[in-house]
Amino acid sequence: MSAIDKAIAANQDFIVNYDPNRVSPRPRLKLIILTCMDTRISYKALGLEPGDVHMIRNAGGIVTDDALRSILVSHYLLGTEELMIINHTDCGLMKASEEELHATIESKAGVWSNTPIRFHAFKDVEKNVREQITKIKSHNWVKSDLTIRGFVYDVATGKLREVKA
Ligand SMILES: [Zn+2]
Repeated sequence: MSAIDKAIAANQDFIVNYDPNRVSPRPRLKLIILTCMDTRISYKALGLEPGDVHMIRNAGGIVTDDALRSILVSHYLLGTEELMIINHTDCGLMKASEEELHATIESKAGVWSNTPIRFHAFKDVEKNVREQITKIKSHNWVKSDLTIRGFVYDVATGKLREVKA
């Protein structure tokens, strides 16, 4: 059975006790988390339950145009008040340069990319977190009523540490 087929089967069990009155599109904790898609970063690591937060994930936990779009929707339309940006140790984007990532994927795909792609490779995780904070704060629509704090998650220990500005 494929992973997708397993998910479809699990959904059949899930709907048995599903109660739409117990869920809301507005995050219970009024919190947005922007983090990497890395499998080692979990809800459990942050004491979270479904419904608590808007979890926005991409490779690296980068403030891309699309992440910014989601953050603005979350804050202005769905009432969130705090943003946690979490990058992590041992991130795949620290292991190769922008050029190396392009070359590797182009080689595996066997063709050139037909659209420009930036992977946002980085070397220093704390510096990268600070850059994401600076980038989001530079947008006119991001004001002081959105509290923004940056963190590094250590995948070796599971510990979260704050990056001071
Ligand atoms: Zn990562």
